[in-house]
Amino acid sequence: MGYLEGKVALVTGAATGIGAACARALAREGATVACSSLPTDATQVVVDEIISAGGAARVYPLNVTDGEAAARVVEQVVAELGGIHVLVNNAGITDDQLLIRMRPESWRRVLAVNLDGAFNVTQPVAKVMMKQREGRVVSISSVVGLMGNAGQTNYAASKAGLVGFTKALAKELGSRGITVNAIAPGFIQTPMTDKLNEEQRKALLANLAIQRLGTPEDIANAVLFLVGPAGSYITGEVINVSGGLYM
Ligand code: NAD
Repeated sequence: MGYLEGKVALVTGAATGIGAACARALAREGATVACSSLPTDATQVVVDEIISAGGAARVYPLNVTDGEAAARVVEQVVAELGGIHVLVNNAGITDDQLLIRMRPESWRRVLAVNLDGAFNVTQPVAKVMMKQREGRVVSISSVVGLMGNAGQTNYAASKAGLVGFTKALAKELGSRGITVNAIAPGFIQTPMTDKLNEEQRKALLANLAIQRLGTPEDIANAVLFLVGPAGSYITGEVINVSGGLYM
């Protein structure tokens, strides 16, 4: 029996990449997973995979930029699955451009998904967790939020914002039995990084201590650690999972 048996996990951006890997991993440990992603995403494919592997999961379409819709989805998950014990704030986008050429819409869009999105979902979930006096929140930040990256001022600001959000919320919720942490992935092989060309990929590997891109499972393993029994005394932390890209 997995250590998340009887628990409910909500994962945003669960249709692909890191979110899908987290959903599968949480289900393997016994959690019932509310897989949430954009209504246009093929999230049902991930849910079907989890169910065929003997797990439990359900699709909850949500654009995290819509705060009212987020509150409705949280209510629906609690009504249908019986609570929320684990939240993984994973939905995120990039829209890269040097600052001097960046359109204000691009700045706002990235902040709206990556940072406002975490606020929109975490606020109603925190209320549920406070009532339960139990919960684990993990937000997927990025090493770019800690070390910077040219062409990503919007993305870096949103991911650094998640770090401050995590530390402040950890202080608010610790006394209620809720831990709040962030994971800062390095470069992980997903649809987001498939956009890199061969030259960018080579330059990247040159900066890594471990000579490979990360996998979504590398990140899911860190999530499992934080939400499982081994993570019970860890809060307000950012764990870099970057193959030594940032240390
Ligand atoms: P991805 O593009 O495969 O996954 C992002 C998911 O979020 C997709 O399913 C997408 O449809 C969904 N999404 C996008 N906008 C959304 C919205 N408004 N509402 C709800 N869902 C939305 O990329 P990924 O690499 O798996 O990224 C997952 C997270 O990991 C992101 O927050 C990303 O910033 C972070 N991250 C990724 C890397 C990497 O190298 N891939 C590195 C550091 C951090």
